[in-house]
Amino acid sequence: MIDILDQQIKKGAEIIKNGGIVAFPTETVYGLGANAFDEQAIRKIFEIKGRPQDNPLIVHISRKDDIYIVATNIPQKAFELIENFWPGPLTLVMKKNPVVPDVVSAGLDTVAVRMPAHPVALKLIDYVGFPIAAPSANPSGKPSPTKPEHIKMYFGDKVFVIEGQCQLGIESTVIDITSDPPVVLRPGGLELEKIKDVLGNIIEFSSEKLSEKPKSPGVKYTHYKPDLFLILLRKRDDIEKISSFIKDHTRMIFVMTYDFDVSFQNQFRQKFYSLQVDFIFAGSDEREIAKNLFDILITKTTGYDLMIFEGVNEQGIGKGIMNRLKKAADVIV
Ligand code: AMP
Ligand code: MG
Repeated sequence: MIDILDQQIKKGAEIIKNGGIVAFPTETVYGLGANAFDEQAIRKIFEIKGRPQDNPLIVHISRKDDIYIVATNIPQKAFELIENFWPGPLTLVMKKNPVVPDVVSAGLDTVAVRMPAHPVALKLIDYVGFPIAAPSANPSGKPSPTKPEHIKMYFGDKVFVIEGQCQLGIESTVIDITSDPPVVLRPGGLELEKIKDVLGNIIEFSSEKLSEKPKSPGVKYTHYKPDLFLILLRKRDDIEKISSFIKDHTRMIFVMTYDFDVSFQNQFRQKFYSLQVDFIFAGSDEREIAKNLFDILITKTTGYDLMIFEGVNEQGIGKGIMNRLKKAADVIV
């Protein structure tokens, strides 16, 4: 089994070395990777994803010291974060080493860098012998893939996929370390509380208050949209607020968080008796919910017109989960 996986990683490395692109597992989500120094290959990633040209990619390295290959003027605070959290779900935006092609950073003079905590990703980067630039392996605007079958659904046989598991299920936390205090560009798999413990002060902008010209280009685009109408229900007690979205014959899937309370399900069925509704459970804590989040948004939509997804507490990785759900939702109540 291990040998089969090793062969897949070797095959993936050959494809990348020959200018191709490969989907590979990381501990956050699946990445769609190419040699960070191969401009033509990077362009293929933008093309197949339909990714806007001004949305830069994350460069993945397999050794901490490789940071010097891609970044310059690295501040002391970056080393403190690296010491504590790499390998792991933390992406650092730093001054770009001019040798990194501009297409990777979408023309910015900064570059986003991460060392993933996944043995397959690390081995792939090692076999390739270059850093791998990779966004998430989904068509632009769609939920990020966390399983090989998601990539098959999205791209069929157009992309070679290395098998694996994404233990976390949401993308990395992105920190701009060129500013002082550092700025959170995207909450994610590493809890902001842990980063504050190391750095002291960091600046957070809530996604609702983002300016017209965000510092991280990716945040301005449509994101994570499932194939049906999605309502984010912050509190279970507020079901009254969803009445106006329910018509006769609406086929609904209700995603419950923390507690798969059957008496609530019965009450709900009685209240909205004209409705066809199925209930599913996303998980009893934020870790489990993060792991299931994108799988639910990608695979639990068939046969339904409407999904209600219950919110989670905005602390720890709950902040990252709510960031994704708010972007994915058509309506937040
Ligand atoms: P993805 O890999 O698809 O999760 O997207 C990478 C995220 O990192 C996007 O939100 C990008 O906008 C962001 N990003 C990548 N490079 C930079 C950079 N140099 N400055 C700011 N944000 C970046
Ligand atoms: Mg993405």
